[in-house]
Amino acid sequence: MMDNLLIVLSGPSGVGKGTIVNELLKSGGFALSVSCTTRGMREGEKDGVSYFFIGRDEFEKNIAAGGFLEYSNHFGNYYGTPKAFVEKQLQTHNVILEIEVDGALQVKKVYPDAVLIMVLPPDREELAARLRGRGTESEEKIAKRLERYDYEVSKKAEYDYVVVNDDLRTAVASIRGIIKSLK
Ligand code: 5GP
Repeated sequence: MMDNLLIVLSGPSGVGKGTIVNELLKSGGFALSVSCTTRGMREGEKDGVSYFFIGRDEFEKNIAAGGFLEYSNHFGNYYGTPKAFVEKQLQTHNVILEIEVDGALQVKKVYPDAVLIMVLPPDREELAARLRGRGTESEEKIAKRLERYDYEVSKKAEYDYVVVNDDLRTAVASIRGIIKSLK
């Protein structure tokens, strides 16, 4: 049994996971894992903060070397959780991973004690409205995200908890409540 929790947060793009994670980090005692990815850097992102942005060759070398706790190919790019960081941080902190469902289910196999939390919007229409409201994505991309949403929701029974992000404060309070009940 590990004393600190490995908390895995998943949920569709646009559901507000990033905001929830920031709120949790403010309470202290949590370390956020920074993933590696082969996707290009977006405006406002920083290497080593948002992600470690690396090339496919380096990513594949890292896979071969067993450097990832989990990894997956998502929309044509690799994403992976650096194993060493997570193992080290778990000695002193609860660790949060913000990753998609396939990776989350891999983590659960390696760490059965990991706490899998899926964050969902109140409904599919609401998510579509949020994605459109961002104004950064084409209709085609939004359609792809909704397709992905259906896939992610189809995995929710494999998660330990499902939290609906209707209201940010309520969602954060629910997650804090889950964590408290497990410590
Ligand atoms: P984005 O490209 O929008 O930053 O992330 C796309 C998806 O990849 C999100 O669902 C995000 O949670 C997920 N993701 C980020 N890092 C990792 C990781 O290390 N492993 C896996 N499996 N998914 C990740």
